[in-house]
Amino acid sequence: MHVSVDKNICQGHGVCLMMAENLFDIDDEDGLAYVMKQPENDAERDLARQAQGNCPERAISITDTADLPTETAVRATGK
Ligand code: SF4
Repeated sequence: MHVSVDKNICQGHGVCLMMAENLFDIDDEDGLAYVMKQPENDAERDLARQAQGNCPERAISITDTADLPTETAVRATGK
């Protein structure tokens, strides 16, 4: 899973922070949200989805990276 915020759409309401305060933060300079930390476990992935679902501007995008090769897999085959 990869989470991103489109700053061209975000209005800085901060709903995402309320849903997942350890994943999102507001940039002090532009007042808009950014992804502070990518989700690393199921609980954080759920919070990211909740934030996406509750963003009033639909500014949060989630890409499913499950079908991409992992670094470990690339290392294992690439030697
Ligand atoms: S909830 Fe959506 S619009 Fe509001 S700050 Fe977060 S990303 Fe931006």
